[in-house]
Amino acid sequence: MSFKDLQLNKPILRAVTEIGYNDPTLVQNKTIPLILKKKDIIVSAQTGTGKTAAFALPILQLLFDRQDASKKGKKIKALVVSPTRELAVQIGEDFNKYSTYTNLRATVVFGGTSIEPQKDILKKGVDILIATPGRLLDLHKQDIVNLDYVETLVLDEADLMLDMGFIDDVKKIERLCPNDKQTLLFSATIPYKVEQLANNILNTPERIEVSPNASTSKNISQLLYYVPKRNKIELCLHLLRNNIKGSILIFRRTKFGVDKLEKTLLKNGYKVGSIHGDKSQTTRQNALNEFKNGHTNILIATDVAARGIDINELDAVVNFDLPNIPETYVHRIGRTGRAKHTGLSYSFCSADEKTYVKSIEELINIQIPIEEDHPYPLDPKAKPIIHKSKKTGSKHKKGRKSIASKKKKKRWY
Ligand code: AMP
Repeated sequence: MSFKDLQLNKPILRAVTEIGYNDPTLVQNKTIPLILKKKDIIVSAQTGTGKTAAFALPILQLLFDRQDASKKGKKIKALVVSPTRELAVQIGEDFNKYSTYTNLRATVVFGGTSIEPQKDILKKGVDILIATPGRLLDLHKQDIVNLDYVETLVLDEADLMLDMGFIDDVKKIERLCPNDKQTLLFSATIPYKVEQLANNILNTPERIEVSPNASTSKNISQLLYYVPKRNKIELCLHLLRNNIKGSILIFRRTKFGVDKLEKTLLKNGYKVGSIHGDKSQTTRQNALNEFKNGHTNILIATDVAARGIDINELDAVVNFDLPNIPETYVHRIGRTGRAKHTGLSYSFCSADEKTYVKSIEELINIQIPIEEDHPYPLDPKAKPIIHKSKKTGSKHKKGRKSIASKKKKKRWY
């Protein structure tokens, strides 16, 4: 199918052609007609599938006919809720590109930066608002945002939104929009809690599944290095000196780990940036821009900070720490080897991570080739170390924490 077959109008087609999209992607082919028919949908698709255009183009099309209100009279008719600031910024940029030849206005609001400039833009009137949950509710409380006219609500990366603890905010936002709105839920995976949310807020949704979550691209060469935990940094330096070249994304599990590795690589003269949840929005955006424009060639990130961010044409992904959720491995390495390029993935496994390898291999249904020829080997047959968690014997159930204590809790991602 072509974009024309999808019945998009000329101004939108013109923008899409100028950007260089020839044909719709699979998720766009399946999703756009349903959104134009005003159906609720639940879409399982990952970043990289073209999912942003899959909702942005039909939303613009639906609003196009009624776009002539003067700027001041504009009401928010489409609301996109995104879990992370980077993703929100990216969605906003995409909307602005696709709406070049329309009078529709889109803007982005997110926390971590001054609220005043965002208020000024909103007061001027927008058709499409892209927002992170906390800042959106803040602006609504201050009467700057009115959701009474929302016709289409998009929840993007719903699984991540729930992982990050936004469930109550999302439900609140949904209730602030009119009952008869159209709701579009996008999620990389559909775990039980996303299913439950969908049951609560979607109206007889159509389901679309595009990315086979459990498959890894044939374009990616995967290698596994067994290495003692204490030697991971040395192994990383060794590989950067001898094997891994080009643009490299390194995943670490914790913010602390990200900072530590960044310091070491900087000391060794590498051009490195990093992103994680404790950094300010500006710092994260700068690190991302520097990496995208080639000023740095190594980006170190936690999974949550990197989720949803469109970083194309990576040469290699390094799993410095193995993820404990096997699907995360597929997401991570799927960032390389895209669109006919070949990519490399290097995974470091220490003794306490061996069980993760087993579950990843079960999921992807292949054995990751082991590279034994390196200076810091760990016996792959050594028994895994299992950390026993101490039982505290607390009688308090999970989820009973006071709001104050929840606020004090530092985020790990
Ligand atoms: P997304 O999954 O929305 O993050 O999109 C991933 C990348 O695919 C972005 O760089 C988009 O600009 C690009 N893209 C989206 N739709 C198309 C299309 N139909 N043809 C080519 N590239 C596309």
